[in-house]
Amino acid sequence: MFKAIRILVLLGILVTVAGTTLVGRWQAQSWKRPQVVTLYPINASGDAATEAYLDRLDDAAFARLEPYFQEQARHYGLALSQPMRIVLGKRVRVAPPALPREGGPLAAISWSLRMRWWAWRQTPPSSPVPDVKLFLMYHPPDFAGALPHSVGLEKGRLGLVHLFASKAQQAQNEVVIAHEALHTFGATDKYDPSTLAPIFPDGYAEPAQEPRHPQTAAELMAGRLPVRQGEARIPSGLGETMIGRKSAMEIGWVR
Ligand SMILES: [Zn+2]
Repeated sequence: MFKAIRILVLLGILVTVAGTTLVGRWQAQSWKRPQVVTLYPINASGDAATEAYLDRLDDAAFARLEPYFQEQARHYGLALSQPMRIVLGKRVRVAPPALPREGGPLAAISWSLRMRWWAWRQTPPSSPVPDVKLFLMYHPPDFAGALPHSVGLEKGRLGLVHLFASKAQQAQNEVVIAHEALHTFGATDKYDPSTLAPIFPDGYAEPAQEPRHPQTAAELMAGRLPVRQGEARIPSGLGETMIGRKSAMEIGWVR
């Protein structure tokens, strides 16, 4: 009897999770109302410089995101004039579960479940209710080596975004935030993971351009601006990026 009840409860949880994932996906890609993307800053390494930066952080650091998505959506003829609302939420003081450096698909699934559980427990209340939660992991500008890999999950509609705690980096931070936000709406990466080079044609902002190089903008999900064959650079800000047709299709802007 007890076993039967336990199975029923587990089944109930499974159905609920599957249901909310489906509803979330349907809602995310229907673009009937602006999707609320809430940003939660975290001092990733706990240093004083990052702390001082976060104490002064305000909406101005993310001001270009809303008009960017607006302009990109207009380009694809989306009926909704404001697709995304960017909200700066409260700071989170507890570190999220560390992303496994290697360990295959099982480790990734386990991390994604722990991450969703962590987010469910640690997200501070905010208004309006977020559709997407992005946890911004800030590191000091003199951080040694490359930043950890950022991730945006469509399932769970959340992301872990690694950024530099520096005014000079804010424009590039916005590019990383926009990229991970788009993952939560179903967009896929458009670069070669081994070389980081944009993949032609979908990772190019203007694939039909002749000659093909240099491109004038980076495709947001490719992340880099192709300068010449075999060479691409990091865009200076959102102004040097655009959302390509394939990405626009993946997030439901183009049918
Ligand atoms: Zn990505």
